[in-house]
Amino acid sequence: MAILTATLASAFHPYHRLSPLVGVAGSPPPRPRLIALTFDDGPSPRYTPEILRLLNRYDAHATFFVLGSEAAQFPQILRDIVNQGSTIANHGYHHVNYFHAGLTRTLQDAALAQALFNKEKIPTAPYYRPPFGNSNKKLAEALATKGYTLTLWSIDTHDWSMPGMTYITRKVLSEAEPGAIVLMHDGGGNRSQTVAALESILPVLRAEGYRLVTLPQYVRALGLTGPQKLPLPPSPPQKNGRIPATRSMEAPP
Ligand SMILES: [Zn+2]
Repeated sequence: MAILTATLASAFHPYHRLSPLVGVAGSPPPRPRLIALTFDDGPSPRYTPEILRLLNRYDAHATFFVLGSEAAQFPQILRDIVNQGSTIANHGYHHVNYFHAGLTRTLQDAALAQALFNKEKIPTAPYYRPPFGNSNKKLAEALATKGYTLTLWSIDTHDWSMPGMTYITRKVLSEAEPGAIVLMHDGGGNRSQTVAALESILPVLRAEGYRLVTLPQYVRALGLTGPQKLPLPPSPPQKNGRIPATRSMEAPP
C-alpha cells in the first residue's frame, strides 16, 4: 500500500509531469513513455465492453488476445474493440497448453482462430500469445515462419486469481515503466477486479505522462522489427513473496 500511496501522491504533485523528460547527464536517452496494456481470454460480453468504455474515457488503447472459442460466440465485440481503436491478436482457439499439446497442435489451434477472424473480416495484428505463457524458442521460431510474433509481457497482474483490485492496481503502478507490457484478462472468469483496478490505474498512468498504446503502435514507436525484441517476462523470484514461483503464469481456460 505504501508504494501505491507514493505513486498516487507523486502523480498529483504539481511538478511531476515535468520530471519524466528530464534526463540524467550521461544516461541513455529515455524510452518513450508508453505502455501496452493487453487483455487475454476474451471477448467477454460482460467485461470487454466495460474495459472499452474505460479505455475511451482515458484516451487509451490496448491489445486483446482473444480466444477463437469466445470470438465465435461474440464476433460483434471484436468489431467494438477494433472500432474503439484497440487491436485484436491471437490467443489460439481452444486455449491449448503448448507444453502438453506440442508444436503442431498449437500451430493448428492458432490457425483455427485466425481462420475465424478472417471469416468474420476482423483485422488482426500478427501477434500470438501462448496460453499460460508456455513457450520456447522453437515455438517462437515456428510462429515466425507463419508471420506471427510470439508476445509475452513484462508485468503480470495475476488478475485471473482475483488477488484484489488493490493488489492488481499496485502491481501495475509500482512496476510501470516506459516500454512495459501489462498482462490482464477480460475473459475466462469473474474479471470485476480487473475492471475496478483499471479504473484506478488508467488516470494515474495518464497523469504520469504515459501513452497507453496497442502493440502495433508500441512496435512502431520503439522502432522494433522482430519478435525476439519484444520484452520477455521478468525472471522469478518475485520480490513480495506472495506469488509462488511455481504457480502457473496465466489463467486456466
Ligand atoms: Zn489465456
